[in-house]
Amino acid sequence: MADILQADHPTSLITGAASGIGKAIAQHAYKEGHNLILVDIDEINLIETSDQFKTTNKIEIIADLSSYEDISKLKKTVDSQCNVVNYLFNNAGIFLEGRSWKLSSDAWSKIININLLATIRMTSAFLPSMIESNQKCHVVNTASMAGVIIGGYLSPYTTTKHAVVGYTRSLFEELKDVQNVNASVLCPGEVQSQIINNERSSLDLKKFLEDKHETTSAIKDYLKLGVKDGLDPKIVAKEVFNAIKKNNFWIFTHSDFVDTYSEYSKEIIESMKR
Ligand code: NAD
Repeated sequence: MADILQADHPTSLITGAASGIGKAIAQHAYKEGHNLILVDIDEINLIETSDQFKTTNKIEIIADLSSYEDISKLKKTVDSQCNVVNYLFNNAGIFLEGRSWKLSSDAWSKIININLLATIRMTSAFLPSMIESNQKCHVVNTASMAGVIIGGYLSPYTTTKHAVVGYTRSLFEELKDVQNVNASVLCPGEVQSQIINNERSSLDLKKFLEDKHETTSAIKDYLKLGVKDGLDPKIVAKEVFNAIKKNNFWIFTHSDFVDTYSEYSKEIIESMKR
């Protein structure tokens, strides 16, 4: 195995590093002196992000994480550059709006492949060497508040983000038997980023934006405004690194959903009582 990135520095691999939360996580990891492996499908913005980091201890990988072939190639590239990824941030994601039955099978596949399967495939690819390394390692999977509460008309997003929470919690339980690796799930509310801008050419998603129902469009417009005025992603990144230090599983960045979650969980608890 080659070791091009500095062996005495921890290595962070960040997916979705070209924009928003992923870019802020990369900036924070850089400040902490990590080697950086920056991954995104958006070449122009990934290179722009990478150019900010005045270090040779970084690599950029342009990959479509919804493709298993791209993930396999990425794994080979990373293995040729470093022995272990200490911090794996499965953060890349897309937003697709729409009612549950109105999306095509291809649209469902697209969002499941990137929001859920990429997280699973990347974790399966990198976790074995993390465990073997005996070094401190951590997996952070980005879900969303949509991973714990449910509103209609965002079905593809909500479905995949709930699955990311379930997957990461299972991982967390399994890793209780492993000394050196931990897992956290990041569930942000609205954060300034490009996430709702799913008409970007770099993502090639226009063909999947099929449900033109007026409530679907109204909710998307509402979210667009919320994200525009959302939390600074740098604050999110800081919370992520604090949670890693404390080995916290849950990373919530917004408290304004407490009442909604209380109502939802009360509904479940009441329904369980017979
Ligand atoms: P963003 O769109 O600014 O960044 C996401 C990045 O992922 C982009 O650079 C994009 O090019 C990349 N990406 C998308 N599909 C990809 C693919 N197939 N392969 C490789 N890279 C791909 O949005 P963001 O808000 O920074 O999103 C980061 C994560 O945070 C996502 O998982 C998102 O669902 C989640 N999230 C965001 C918010 C918010 O309000 N911004 C809230 C909750 C959760």
